[in-house]
Amino acid sequence: MNLGLIGLPQVGKKTVFRLLTGLVAEKAPSKDGISYGIATVRDPRIDALSAMFSPKKTKYAEIEIALPPDIQPDNARGAAWLDPIRRTDAIIHVVRAFASDHVFHILNDVNPARDIETVELEFLFADLDMTERRLERINKELRIKASPQKEKEKEVITRCHDQLQAEKPLRNVEFSEEDMKLIRSLQFLTLKPMITVINVGEDIAAAQKEHAALAAELSARGDTVVFLSAAIEQELSELDSAERQAFMDDLGITEPASHRLSRSAFECLGLISFFTCGPDEVRAWPVTAGSTAPQAAGKIHSDLERGFIRAETISYDALIAAGSEKAAKEAKLHKLNGKDYVVQDGDVIEIRFNV
Ligand code: GDP
Repeated sequence: MNLGLIGLPQVGKKTVFRLLTGLVAEKAPSKDGISYGIATVRDPRIDALSAMFSPKKTKYAEIEIALPPDIQPDNARGAAWLDPIRRTDAIIHVVRAFASDHVFHILNDVNPARDIETVELEFLFADLDMTERRLERINKELRIKASPQKEKEKEVITRCHDQLQAEKPLRNVEFSEEDMKLIRSLQFLTLKPMITVINVGEDIAAAQKEHAALAAELSARGDTVVFLSAAIEQELSELDSAERQAFMDDLGITEPASHRLSRSAFECLGLISFFTCGPDEVRAWPVTAGSTAPQAAGKIHSDLERGFIRAETISYDALIAAGSEKAAKEAKLHKLNGKDYVVQDGDVIEIRFNV
C-alpha cells in the first residue's frame, strides 16, 4: 500500500517527503521518474510500550510514499503523467500557504484554495475522460453481445460520469461493495482518500485562523487536513531530542506535525495497528481494519495463521492502566479470543498456535 505525495511545483513536496522518509528525494530509489521512500508511522503508543517492556528492538509500522513529478496545470488532460498517481492507494496533496520572495509560485501568487481546486479539476477531468472512454467501449461490446454484467457496469460508470460532470469527486459518492468491485480496476483519481497538507509560514496559529474556512470545507467533505510548516518541521528534525523538546515547548506543540501526518496517512489507507510486545521486540503490525485474529497472525508468519489456536489479547489502554504486563495478567485482563475475533486498533496480542 502506498501514498502519492503530489502538488504543484515548489510547494514543499520534497521537504515533506524528507520529513516522512528521512530521504532526500533526488537520492531516493526511483523508477520512471518517481521517487520512493518508506515512512515510519510515529505512534506514541509504541513509545509507551517500549518504555514498559524495555525491548532490544522497537519497530514502528511503515508505509510507502511515492513522489511523482510535479503537477503542471494545463497539461494535456488525462495524459500519461497522471498514471503514477493512479497507481497509489491514497493521496497527500501538499499546498503552499507560506509567503516567500525567494520561492516562485507557478500561478504567481499564494492562494491555497485556488491551488486545491486546480489540482482537483485536473483529477476530475482525467476521471471524466476515463468514464467516457469506458462507456464508449461498453456500448460497443453491448451492441455485439448482450450481457447483464456489462449492463450493470454501464449503470455504475454512468453514475460516476454524472457525478464527475457535476464536479463531484467520486470519494464523496456512496458505492456498494459490488459497485466498488466493478470500478476499482479503473483507478479513479478522485476516488482515492485525500489528505491535504497546508504548508504554512512560521506563524502557524495565524495561518490556521486564516485558512480555517478552507480547512472546514475540506473536512466537511471527508478529506483530512494537516497544517504544517515544512520549514519549521525541517528545523525540528535536525535538532537533538533535548533541543527539539525546548523548541516544541516554545511553539506550544507536543509533537512534530509531520508525526501526525504519518498517522493520518496510515489511517487513510484503512489500516489499524496491533502490537506484539516482549523482551526482544515491541512492534506495531499494520492490518486492514476488519481483519480477523488468524489474518493478523498471518502478518507475523504464515505458520501462525495456519496453526492458529487462540489470540491472547489486551487493549493498549487496559495494559497501560494496569502498569505492567504482570499486573495485567494478575488482574486477568487478557482475553482469549478465537478465530472469529476481529482485531481492534491498539490490541496487544500474543498468538497461541500449533507448529
Ligand atoms: P517541491 O518543488 O514541491 O518539491 O518543493 P520543495 O520541498 O523543493 O520546496 C521548494 C522551495 O520552497 C525550497 O526552496 C524550500 O526550501 C521552500 N520551502 C518549502 N517549504 C517551505 C516553508 O514551509 N516555508 C518557506 N519559507 N519555504 C519553504
